[in-house]
Amino acid sequence: MTQQQTQSVVYCPKMRAIILSALAIAPMLLATAAPARADEEKHSIVWNQVRTPSPGAAQAIGGYAHGCLSGGVALTLDGPGYQVMRPARRRYFGHPVLIDYLKKFGERVYSARLPLVALGDLAQARGGPMNFGHASHQSGLDVDIWLRLDLPLLPRNQRDSLKEVTLVNGATHGVLHPGWTDAHAKLLRLAAADSRVDRIFVNPAIKNELCRKAGPDRGWLRLIRPWYGHDDHFHVRLSCPHDSPLCEPQKPLPEGDGCGAELQSWMAEAHPPRPKKPGTQHSPPDPELPLACYRVIVAAEPTFSTTH
Ligand SMILES: [Zn+2]
Repeated sequence: MTQQQTQSVVYCPKMRAIILSALAIAPMLLATAAPARADEEKHSIVWNQVRTPSPGAAQAIGGYAHGCLSGGVALTLDGPGYQVMRPARRRYFGHPVLIDYLKKFGERVYSARLPLVALGDLAQARGGPMNFGHASHQSGLDVDIWLRLDLPLLPRNQRDSLKEVTLVNGATHGVLHPGWTDAHAKLLRLAAADSRVDRIFVNPAIKNELCRKAGPDRGWLRLIRPWYGHDDHFHVRLSCPHDSPLCEPQKPLPEGDGCGAELQSWMAEAHPPRPKKPGTQHSPPDPELPLACYRVIVAAEPTFSTTH
């Protein structure tokens, strides 16, 4: 950054304190060329308080549960086929590939005359660890999509207090009737019908229902993976984009539709509809972020007004 650029950027006091605290640890990390294991909560507080994406080219950095997002983009809060819930959380940022995926998904939902889709969390402005709710969603490639299909388009100030609704019967380990409909199955199939999707997490009971009802065209079921929780939303994860060499892919999925032994092993166990504590949905949190993420978090945050 040139001196002229430095002078033209205005910082709010709170942001200045955050950046200074991040800068305080950055030289040590850069000098050792290896990020020190730091307190996860301290990290998440810094990451959730940065309100704007970092400048520069878009990149998903690191893993889904230990990474960050450079050059993120905000998803418009309403579009054909979708609305973003809980906008006050400011978790509606993603890699441009995720934003494009969601816009196209919404258009296909709209064209198929399916009900309006309620989108949950994507990522924070620069990704990174969150202070509650998710272990993953850190690199701008994850999104939660609610299973509630009863919501009209709501004013933005009415979207923060609404709750998700479970569609899984915890006693029978099946989907709830009434509740689960063909529209839910169609929605999941639409969500999977994009080559950028790496996998979609659902509750084992939901995968079981999809397996039972699917006809001969079952290839898409391979992407639908059973996991803890996910009884009131499903979680779409995109593959690493081509522009992101530091993005860490997950292991490839096994062959087949996943309706056999693996699913039965999940069904044989009692899985509570919700994880025991927040943040355990997909994998344990890993506070060891890639070094490149420190450059993302310390990049200056310009402000365009004097009020916050
Ligand atoms: Zn999720």
